[in-house]
Amino acid sequence: MKDIKAPETNNDNTVNESGYWRSFKELYKDPSFDKALKNEFSPEALQKPEVDKMSAVTRRRFLALMGASAAFAAAGCNNYQDKGFIYPYNNKPEEVILGLPNFYASTCSGCSSACGILVKTREGRPIKVDGNPDHPVNKGKICTKGQASVMNLYSPERLKEPAMNKAQTNWNDANKKITETLVSASGSGKEIAVVTHTIVSPTLKKLLDEFKVTYPTAKVYSYEVFNDSARINAWQKSYGKRSIPVLQLDKAKIIVALESDFLGNEKNMLEFTRMFVQNRDVMNANEFNRLYSVEGAVTATGMSADYRLRLRTDAIEELVMCLLNEVIGKKKISAFAMDSRVTSVFSSNDLKQFAVKHKLDEKVIDHLVNDLVKNQGAAIVYGGDKLPESTHIAINLLNDALGNTKLYSADSENTELMPLSTSAEMEALVSAMASGRVGAVIHFDTNPVYNLSPDYNYAEALKKSACKHNFGGTGKRNNGNFELCTAHSPCTGIME
Ligand code: SF4
Repeated sequence: MKDIKAPETNNDNTVNESGYWRSFKELYKDPSFDKALKNEFSPEALQKPEVDKMSAVTRRRFLALMGASAAFAAAGCNNYQDKGFIYPYNNKPEEVILGLPNFYASTCSGCSSACGILVKTREGRPIKVDGNPDHPVNKGKICTKGQASVMNLYSPERLKEPAMNKAQTNWNDANKKITETLVSASGSGKEIAVVTHTIVSPTLKKLLDEFKVTYPTAKVYSYEVFNDSARINAWQKSYGKRSIPVLQLDKAKIIVALESDFLGNEKNMLEFTRMFVQNRDVMNANEFNRLYSVEGAVTATGMSADYRLRLRTDAIEELVMCLLNEVIGKKKISAFAMDSRVTSVFSSNDLKQFAVKHKLDEKVIDHLVNDLVKNQGAAIVYGGDKLPESTHIAINLLNDALGNTKLYSADSENTELMPLSTSAEMEALVSAMASGRVGAVIHFDTNPVYNLSPDYNYAEALKKSACKHNFGGTGKRNNGNFELCTAHSPCTGIME
């Protein structure tokens, strides 16, 4: 057995105060990196050149030397095959034609949007990822994270073999020991906790269901640091179901983003961006949409907005109440205006007073209300992931009153294969681990030690579980999981 040495880091498992590193030399504290860092502005570099002591090479001679160097370099590189051997296939796979790439359709697992991707491969090696033009969600578009996902495959930090107690082992031994622990935990009635991110693959969901049948005490917990559970819960309370229809942003003339970065960093970002830009064509001004953004911090969406209003996140709900009062209470739009149980909720919210109180441009606010009223059924008010459930419910009511539900697609919706665990469920897991009621914990391509807020005290509770198995796609060695888990197995990525 060979020991795997974790890189030397500070006590807090970071390489410097900020926790960022720019190269492996810095990560592993290579002395040459420190030296280069110190010599970045060496005293010699700041001194004036002493012309007398400089080389006597003339300009003509210098150019001649440069030309010769370039010619030698080109000659040295002209036949790369001389650098080694390239063996032909003994038995060439039918689909491989040497020199021609193959493309495979797959699904990106970079986030819960699950975009369709095309992976370009050469002789079986993935080399580039692009959006799949035939995929209904992203239609050929891809984000930077998806495009960079190919680098996970070749990461030198990736765990290649299983390890037990930080020592490398083989798959047979690892499988045997882990299975024994799972059987023992299940037999003694202790919980087996599987911690994952959002499950977007039906195959993975099926495997987890089968796992739960084999080990009846198993429970699956899924979490995302940033998620849209508030929007989904609000949708369920407003309409009685958890599947939110896809928004047809390409048909919206007016878009009001409330604390939402739907063009930059939220769920369905690629799909929204694709639809949004369809009506931002300067050559087709008649179809130009208008974007209002009301937000507390600067986002990509705010930067693309025609009108941006700066407002604290905790005041957004009050703004929606004022808009409801303006649209339903004062302008008597929709049947809700006849229902005093509804109107009494926001009758005291005055938009003008709100604008003065929060120093919002009153002209822009008037413009926004007029646009919403004038474009009923062709406008959308969209709340961001960070907003609480109650704000999303108010936004749903506003869209309903304005008839904007016409923009909800009738034949395509965002579904949840498995709802994310609530904070209460994650707290219950931590408490069960801390009290020794959990016999085994499996981290499935997740790093809750790092991701979860320190308030959960997850790392401390994890130490009390008998078996901690880290099952990681890119299974980095230098992370919180590796330090605290007893068993580690690499799992295949989407391109393997
Ligand atoms: S938005 Fe980006 S990271 Fe998320 S699934 Fe699509 S391509 Fe992957």
